[in-house]
Amino acid sequence: MSDVLRPSRAARSIEPTMIRSLRAGMRESTIDFGLGQTDLEISEAVREAIGGGDGREPYTPNAGSREAREAIAAHADADADEVMLTCGVQEGLAVAILGLCNPGDEVLVPNPGFPAYDNLVRAAGATPVRYPLAAPTPDSPGWGLDVEAVVERIGDATRLAVLNNPSNPTGSVFDADRLEALLTALEDAGVGWISDEIYEDYVWEGPFVSTRSINRQAGLVLSGLSKTHHMMGWRLGWMVGPAAIIEALTPFHQHLVTCAPSPAQRAAIAAVAEHDEAVVATREVFADRRRRVLEAFESIELGSEPSVDGAFYLFVDVRPWLSQFDTTLQLARALLHEEDVMVVPGEGFGPAGLGHLRVAFTIGGDALEEGLRRMVDFLQRHR
Ligand code: PMP
Repeated sequence: MSDVLRPSRAARSIEPTMIRSLRAGMRESTIDFGLGQTDLEISEAVREAIGGGDGREPYTPNAGSREAREAIAAHADADADEVMLTCGVQEGLAVAILGLCNPGDEVLVPNPGFPAYDNLVRAAGATPVRYPLAAPTPDSPGWGLDVEAVVERIGDATRLAVLNNPSNPTGSVFDADRLEALLTALEDAGVGWISDEIYEDYVWEGPFVSTRSINRQAGLVLSGLSKTHHMMGWRLGWMVGPAAIIEALTPFHQHLVTCAPSPAQRAAIAAVAEHDEAVVATREVFADRRRRVLEAFESIELGSEPSVDGAFYLFVDVRPWLSQFDTTLQLARALLHEEDVMVVPGEGFGPAGLGHLRVAFTIGGDALEEGLRRMVDFLQRHR
């Protein structure tokens, strides 16, 4: 590499995701349980709204058009000035983490967790401190929120906690009482939070409680159109929080992206207007797939009982197979090579994920059945 152009410390601290490197080994025929990308269509009304401009797409105000901010505010039970439209939740995370942390701060991030969190914390010159989710036991399947594990990691430098509920990659949904206890402890310790609730509409067991219904002052909530409305590439998300923080972070968002894409902002207005009906149809599709995935893995003895309370990820406990494979990355490579099936190794989400495979049931029909059959065959063969 040239001496003249050198990536910064921040850029060098960013790691590529494991998903991307494994995907390089995919073929045309690969059955893909890897990407958390829904396969459903955008609704007619949303498509019309995207195309519904007058041929000009001027910049909107930085935080979003007034109409779009009002529509998201009505949807999220907020005021318009408490809303910023972002280029997907991804950009919202960048604005929130880089905009709220100083170099040297510590930020609590879930383990296992979505890889953007710790990478963005490092990009801010801050230090990610991983808090483990409670790993499944025979009495309590699923990865719950372990309040103690978070609280005991709070120190003088702790600035922020990142929460993700429902969780990618574990498919767990936080218990409301534990979440409330955690938010109280964080606020008492002077620690704010960012709650990534992009999977809020995919809750299979138990009620979903947003951090906003507990405390609106000390945290930001992020969500968007990618998962519920199948608009991944349109890059539309939102951040909801105290008006003063939204206002203070808007210039940062301005200098990053100016504004979220204007056609996608119109789409957001149409999408949230029909949100309730759209979610019913989408949930039916994913509830059926969830049932099929759980059934398929019931036929094999895993490290712990498979469970998925939220999102469309099953985090399959293959710890017993670590006697055959050194890492779940190796196992996932062998699965790709032998069975032409793509899943994501759990350690791609932090060390606590080792021994687990993330299976995204974002495919349906025969491919889903065939892929499940191959995975179960593979695990039986390598037992
Ligand atoms: N947060 C989580 C937990 C995710 O799983 C994803 C996408 N896989 C994102 C954020 C980013 O979503 P968006 O498309 O809105 O940027």
